[in-house]
Formats: sequence, structure tokens, C-alpha cells
Amino acid sequence: MYSLKRLFPYCLTLIFSVCYLAPALAATEEVVVYSARKAHLIAPLFDRYTQKTGVKVTLLTDKAGALVQRLLAEGKRTPADLLLTVDAGNLWQAAEQDVLATVDSKQLQQQVPIWLRDPDGRWYGLSKRARTIIYNTERVQPAEISTYADLAQPKWYGRLCLRTSKKVYNQSLVAMMIARYGETRTEDVVRGWVNNLAAAPFSNDTKAIQAVAAGQCDVAIVNTYYFGRLQRKQPDLPIALAWPNAASGGVHVNVSGGGVTRYAKHPQAALRLLEWLASEEAQGEFAELNLEYPVNPEVPAAKQVQAWGSFSEDPMNLSQAGRFQARAVRLMDRVGYR
Ligand code: FE
Repeated sequence: MYSLKRLFPYCLTLIFSVCYLAPALAATEEVVVYSARKAHLIAPLFDRYTQKTGVKVTLLTDKAGALVQRLLAEGKRTPADLLLTVDAGNLWQAAEQDVLATVDSKQLQQQVPIWLRDPDGRWYGLSKRARTIIYNTERVQPAEISTYADLAQPKWYGRLCLRTSKKVYNQSLVAMMIARYGETRTEDVVRGWVNNLAAAPFSNDTKAIQAVAAGQCDVAIVNTYYFGRLQRKQPDLPIALAWPNAASGGVHVNVSGGGVTRYAKHPQAALRLLEWLASEEAQGEFAELNLEYPVNPEVPAAKQVQAWGSFSEDPMNLSQAGRFQARAVRLMDRVGYR
């Protein structure tokens, strides 16, 4: 039989553990996040949030469509409190499928510009990317680039590269063009793009940028952060960004963003996390992890991103990207944009 004396150190350990850990366990709040934004781009922020607040953040990542389907299938039983995804087209779809709750937050309204959030408060942009024109600096003068529509002109024949129309990014760009210019004019432009293609549409933005750098084409339409990533790896490539539509509506910007789920088990904790992600404290890192622009106007972009110069952005509400998405898809199909 063990003597009390021999057990004493173990008892102490046990007492210490119970006293030390019990309050922490009791205070543990949790937020379950379903995210189509990649884990390595947000996990560092969630770690920081947990350290600061003690709130545990559980992360599950998948593609946007799969997460929305999962939320629909789980219904009221879902463990998810917050949905994060990229592109307003996807956020709009999530809201349309009724998996997001309307939240009324003064803080979010102040932190996120009105055109980067749902008018009904179901989703909020958290980082901003411009979908702009990239050009080969050895083959194109920056002054030659004026608008997205201009890329349909005969002078760009055999010089344009595009990503596939199957990706939501170009669906949103075309949807926003329909919202601004109407369907007839947009169809003329997109038909002109297809006619000007130097190569079949690429499966991703990086391939389109590499084709421009290699001289396979002279211009392409891509998201700024893909350019940033390549610029980091290969700073000497003969490519640069241009900012179109300075006098006609501005550059198309899109967001990554999120919303509290309709059946959140921890809606208050989820809202506080969402507010924190949009706050001055978190916005710099949130944007910089993916070389994006903060949505919060109080927070400057990273040095590398600032160096690309300033531009006027399209201030039309991004919910239009969702509203006109189906028409954009049909339009691109009609003109043979694959
Ligand atoms: Fe992307």
C-alpha cells in the first residue's frame, strides 16, 4: 500500500491541475468556422484571437459550394457559427440559400465600406482584391491600356489571355459589367475578348500571368494577389499591373468575407469574431497574409501592395455580382467563352 507521503506530490499535481485549469475550461467559449478561405491564410489570426480572448476557434475548410451544401444538409443541427468564403458571388449565393443570419452591427457598418457588404447585413467583406489588367512591360506601353471594354478592340487581336469563365471571379466581373452597362453592351465586349484570345482560357490566374511574362500574350485580367505572389518569387519578370476604367466606373474589386450562420450555436461569439476580423487590430494581417487590401479604410495595405499604386475602385454594391451571376454565365456561354 502506498503511503500518504509517497502520494503527496501526485495529490499536489492533481490539485494544481484542477485549480488552474477549471476556470479556463469553464470560461472557454467556442466559435466554429466553415471556411473556403485557405487555412494558412486565416489560422494565424484565429490563434491570435484565442490568445487574446480565450475563445476557441475551430476551423473546417472546403470549397464554398461544398460548405453551403453542408450547411443546408445540417440545417438546425449545424455546428457552424461563421461562414467565410471568397468572392461576393459566393457570399451572395450563401445568403440566397438562406444559410446566413442578418446581423445588425454598428461596428461592422463603420469598418466595412457600404459597397463591400450585403445591404441586408448577411455578409461583410473582410479583404479586398482588385481584378485588374496585367501587361508585358516589353510589349505594351502603360498608356495603351484604358478599360476592360477596350480589350475587345481589334488592336488587341491575338494578344489577350483570360482565365476560364467557369471560375466565379470572371463571372463576378462580367456580372458587374452587366449591372453597369447592360447586357447588350457587355455581350459585345465579352465576344470581343474571346475573339482577341491568344490562347485557350487558362485554369487559373497564375498561368495567365506566366503566359504574359513569357510573351505568349501581352495582357490578361487577373486578381492582384496572384501577381503579388509571383512578384515575390520572381521580381524580375517583365510584368506590371495597370488600373483600367479610371474615368468609367473604376477598377473591379471583389472581397473575401463572411457572415454568421442562420443556426449558429454561438451567434454572439461569432459576431464578435467577425467584428474583430474587420477591426484595425486584425485587418493589416488579414490582408497581408494574402497580399490583399484591407477593407477597413483606417488600415494601410502592406508595402508591396502599396507599391502597385493607387486606383479608383468601382463603388457599385458587390451584391450585384451575385444578382447578375446567372445572366453572366449564360452570356459567357453564348459568346463561346469557355
Ligand atoms: Fe483566388
